[in-house]
Parts: sequence; structure tokens; C-alpha cells
Amino acid sequence: MDRNAITDVYLTVDTELSSMHFRRFGVAGLDDNFATSILGRTAAGDFGIGYQMERLDAFGLKGVFFVDPLVALVAGQDMVDRIVHPILDAGHDVQLHAHSEWIELAQTGLTDGRIGRNMGDFNLEDQVRILEYGIERLMAAGAPRPVAFRAGNYGANDDTLRALARLGVRYDTSYSPDYEDSVCGISMPSGSALPVWREDVIEVPVSAISSPSGGSRHAQITALSAQEMIAALAYAALNRHPSFTIVSHSFELLSRQRDKPNKIVVRRFDQLCEVIAASPRLRAATYAANPPEPVAGDLVFERLPHSLARTLLRNGEQAVSNGLYGEQLGKLPVGAAAPAIKMRDRLVAPLHNLGPLQQIALDILMAV
Ligand SMILES: [Zn+2]
Repeated sequence: MDRNAITDVYLTVDTELSSMHFRRFGVAGLDDNFATSILGRTAAGDFGIGYQMERLDAFGLKGVFFVDPLVALVAGQDMVDRIVHPILDAGHDVQLHAHSEWIELAQTGLTDGRIGRNMGDFNLEDQVRILEYGIERLMAAGAPRPVAFRAGNYGANDDTLRALARLGVRYDTSYSPDYEDSVCGISMPSGSALPVWREDVIEVPVSAISSPSGGSRHAQITALSAQEMIAALAYAALNRHPSFTIVSHSFELLSRQRDKPNKIVVRRFDQLCEVIAASPRLRAATYAANPPEPVAGDLVFERLPHSLARTLLRNGEQAVSNGLYGEQLGKLPVGAAAPAIKMRDRLVAPLHNLGPLQQIALDILMAV
């Protein structure tokens, strides 16, 4: 298969302590905050980044961990080390995340007393200082110099991109499409879905599907069902999108109260890993090893429309009739086709809700 037919999937995990927890319990609560927010510790076991990396490793996948090092302002470099070291040891990608509310909580001179909930609340010079501080903290923990950034709350603006360019950080993935109450201030055409040049950096939008209201729901592990995610991946593969970005968090697999695992989401994470690992059309990519290629111009790609079944069935049937995949599974040597067929058959059983849709989606993803 030619390189262009593979969709790079960025499984991104925003890895951060809770500033809300810090507001309530302060420095005395930092160990608990770390245990819950990073390790995902519950009475039923740990479901944070350690668990997630274990699952990724089990499927031979790599994840991108966007670590928020600004927590060092209240907790010191040691806290950044505790987060970053296990990720580096496991060979996953460490990139830069930043929640600027730590500046207010720490009351340091980083921005001469100016505070803001989001990166976009700060002027360009302050943003450069914040990012520079974050880069220094990650590198002090032993991480390679980050090449990619995501703002906390997606709260970046065009100055954030200029600041990143100034510091040589080549990729930003803070643009989360037009969902309700978004604070993202990056100027992009509505519906942008693929990497494009913006202000001398490559903006890599968080992927999304269309919602019934005409807006969009972004590809976050807790926001889309396994069926929707698989359908969206199939749609991206079918339309030969070069990349697909999924968002998760270090604490994503926990319940809302963060006191126990959310078993549905835990299972969903596994199903997603399984599909990506099994599909010859998808590759789990990292910014360090396989950074996204920008598409030319102002291309706006259609997202998976709300009527999942109808659209995917139609596209899938067209693909079959065009001979895009059709009989190809059957033509492969048995050894090569077997894992994909086995995977498809295994997945069909638990994912029964959408009937023919998920069959088509899996057919698309497993076609060689
Ligand atoms: Zn965050």
C-alpha cells in the first residue's frame, strides 16, 4: 500500500495535575493530586498514565503525552521529573502542554504579575516567557526539546502560534473545532480538520465528527463511543486523510469524581488500541518520530457527518463498488490476512449496536 493511504493517528494524552484540587488543598495535597491526576489511583487500582502506557505497549502502539510542566511553579522540578521519567522510560513521546492558571496560583514573577486562565489571555512576550519556562522544565527532566504544543483548555490564539514559532516549536495542536463555549482563539476556517501552516507553525486540529446541532464533537475518548470513534477513523481512512488526532487525559479513564475507574471508558480505550493496532490503514504516530505533514493551502475537509450509518454505508458501498478494497482481503496470503480477519470477527461481537455500519467501518479499516 502506498504511504498516502495510511492515516497517522495521534493518540494524545494531556498529562496534568488538577489546579482545582490545588486551590482546595494546596501544597499539602500535592501527593494526592499527583496520585489521582497522573497515576489515576483508585481503590480498584491505577488507571492513569502507567496503566495507559501498559495498554499501548500491549498493542505495540506509541502515545503522545502532552505534559503540563507549569505545575513546577507550585511543586518544583521534582514533580515534573515524577511525571516525565516514566514516560521517557517507557519510550513514549513527551510534548508540551500548559495551563497558565498555575501562574496565578504560584504568584511568581514569571509574567510580572499578569495572570490569565488561558494562554490567549497573555500578550505575545508573556506567552514566549511561559512557553520558554515550560520547555526548560521538560528538558530539565530529561525530555528532548519539545516540538509540539497544546494549550490548556485549547485556550491558544494566533500569538501563541507566533510565540511557538519564535521558540522553534514547529507544531501546535490547540485548535479544537468550534465546539460550544470554546475559548480557542486561533484563526482557522470553520471545519478545518487537517494540518496546515499558520503563523510559521503547523496547526494540527483535534479531530471531530459533526453533531446533530450542526456543530461538532471532538474526538475525545470520553466524548465519542467506540462505534463513533471507529466510524470516524474509517471515514478518515476512506477519505485518505493523512492524520487523525484523538484527545485524552491522564485521568480520562476515571469516573467524574475521579474515585473509581469508568469501566466503559477503560474498555473503549482498549478497543481503540485494538483497532488501530490491527488496521493496516492506521498507524499510531508520534510527533518525535512521525510528525504530521501539512496539507497545501486552506483545505477544509468534511468531517464524519452526524448520520454515521447512512454516510459510512454509502461511502463504504461506493468504495466496494470502486474496487478500493472489495475482494482484496481474500487475495492476501492467509498469514497476512488472518490477523485482520480475526480482529474484525472478534470486534463484531461486542460492537453490535450499529449493525451493518460497524461491519463496513471495520471492513474499511482492515482492508489491506
Ligand atoms: Zn490540560
